[in-house]
Amino acid sequence: MSEQIVVIGGVAAGPKTACRVKRLMPDADVVVIDQDSLVSYGGCGIPYYVSGDVSDEKELRSTSFHVVRDEAFFQEAKGVTMLTRTRALAIDRESKTVEVEQLDTGESNKLPYDKLLLATGSIPNRLPIPGAELKGVYVVNNMHRAIAIKNDLAQGKVTKAVVIGGGAIGLEMAESLADLWGIETTVLEYMDQLLPRIVDPAFAAMLAKHLKDNNIAVYTGESATGLEGDDSGRVCRVLTPKRTIDADLVIMSVGVRPNSTLAREAGLLVAPQGGIVVNNRMQTSDPTIYAAGDCVEIINQVSGMKNNAPMGSLANRQGRVAADNIGGIPSQFEGWVGSFIMKAFDCCIGGTGLSNTTAKGLGFDAEVAITAQSDRAHFFPTQAVIMLQMVFDRTSRKVLGVQGFGPMNDSILARINAAAALIAKGAVIEDFSNLELAYAPPFSTAVDALNATANVADNIAAGRLRTISIEDFLDWMDRPEGKPGWAALDIRHPKEAAEFVEKYGSDLWQAIPYVNVRSRYKELPEDKMLIIICDAGTRSSEVQLFLDSVGLRNNLVLGGGFNAIRRIGPDWWPS
Ligand SMILES: Cc1cc2nc3c(=O)[nH]c(=O)nc-3n(C[C@H](O)[C@H](O)[C@H](O)COP(=O)(O)OP(=O)(O)OC[C@H]3O[C@@H](n4cnc5c(N)ncnc54)[C@H](O)[C@@H]3O)c2cc1C
Repeated sequence: MSEQIVVIGGVAAGPKTACRVKRLMPDADVVVIDQDSLVSYGGCGIPYYVSGDVSDEKELRSTSFHVVRDEAFFQEAKGVTMLTRTRALAIDRESKTVEVEQLDTGESNKLPYDKLLLATGSIPNRLPIPGAELKGVYVVNNMHRAIAIKNDLAQGKVTKAVVIGGGAIGLEMAESLADLWGIETTVLEYMDQLLPRIVDPAFAAMLAKHLKDNNIAVYTGESATGLEGDDSGRVCRVLTPKRTIDADLVIMSVGVRPNSTLAREAGLLVAPQGGIVVNNRMQTSDPTIYAAGDCVEIINQVSGMKNNAPMGSLANRQGRVAADNIGGIPSQFEGWVGSFIMKAFDCCIGGTGLSNTTAKGLGFDAEVAITAQSDRAHFFPTQAVIMLQMVFDRTSRKVLGVQGFGPMNDSILARINAAAALIAKGAVIEDFSNLELAYAPPFSTAVDALNATANVADNIAAGRLRTISIEDFLDWMDRPEGKPGWAALDIRHPKEAAEFVEKYGSDLWQAIPYVNVRSRYKELPEDKMLIIICDAGTRSSEVQLFLDSVGLRNNLVLGGGFNAIRRIGPDWWPS
């Protein structure tokens, strides 16, 4: 008799596993069940379907050769039985059966299995605030909700929207509303920065400014306390402790939690945070039951901590590993490092590994190197400046994370992907300095921005470079009286420095162009802490070394220079 393989969950991890199992075990009877009517869609494409970049929802459910992945497709093309609108109610491990209910007929029966895969995904959190059930309030975890949001937009029901939650999905949704639909959009984030814990405050601030420049209002440190509706029962206002915002659409994007109830009720090991416990082969505590995707807990290879990591890329890779093992190939899933990339209008932000904040919180001796480098040869017409940050451990010199902010092209993605590969292998700063990366002027620079950032990290780690963090610099600019012994040394072109000298006075803002520092350094005060400022930080580093050589060591370099500050756009930045 052929082996019976049952898969619960038909979006990402489930179909990936089912189809590979069928390829590896052509004689197996492979059945996928999902309670939903729409399956095997690219959930990550939802923001681009809502925005209109993707015109039809079927495109998210189609193969690259434009065939919709429905029940007939799975049966005919893949030899896999896909049972939609079929809910798994319970797993009986003793008899190795899954009790299922067909939701349209109410019929229930038992599916026998030899191997079972749980790919039950995650459940979106909802804020328990008054009005959360009003019409026009959505979470975006499946295609039906995406279709409903797009219908509201297309029917002209929405002029103002509020997105609650400044994580990646919330921000992608905010862009999808504001960009092509021109909806007046506000983002509320409870923490004091966007993408909390994922990127550090300076990079979050660059993103926030870019969103504001594109007409999205961003309020951090602020969350919704209630929603009010109109006479028809549709949401019309969002209340926060600081303001009332008109809104006829509200998107709640406040995280997800693993959907592990079936597993728990079947007596499988489930972690306190809710993820199903699996080994490297994606096997649960019952060796005949596998699990993959948003519902499992996996290890972060940098921190060593276990948690759930709800990402489509991981769900697919885990699905393949589960399928291999079901099919007799001993593949392993080693964990993740935490890589992401996100479009924001004509810019993008990405990261991998740990942020500085997270690393410090975990007890690492964390430090950062920030650079502003050309993504392509500086003479190549389409070159642009990209901001990169490397987080490293001073003691072990291990690279813990990399973040990037730049134009919406391949430049950030390329560096983040290279960094992710090295970080997963426990690389140290030298591995990044010496990393061989492909170069030709239209694509990159001879010393790649990633190599250069590692070189800065190397100088900092070795004590050859002393920097001030962007946060400390901004704090000083806001309250110079807080640090009475500090002054800026602006080494940019005199024309660039002039308005700062005029505004702050030459006591606080001293300007000596880079090319003149060697001849004029004696003009510098010896009793002050000088913050050396240029555009990228590179010339400032050179100047620091020179000043050190003449005995003037009382200075710090602003890493990333004014390129970083300009992208953050503090109140004092010249308009
Ligand atoms: C708007 C949006 C944007 C995203 N963007 C990205 C991105 O850019 N990059 C990225 O890596 N990830 C992204 N993600 C995350 C990604 O979509 C998920 O990580 C991925 O879909 C997880 O796949 P999964 O198969 O584990 O679970 P899911 O996609 O959640 O599928 C689980 C399925 O199981 C079914 N199910 C659950 N319980 C039962 C039951 N008892 N019986 C039957 N069926 C059941 C559910 O109905 C569901 O259809 C995004 C997600 C969203 C919502």
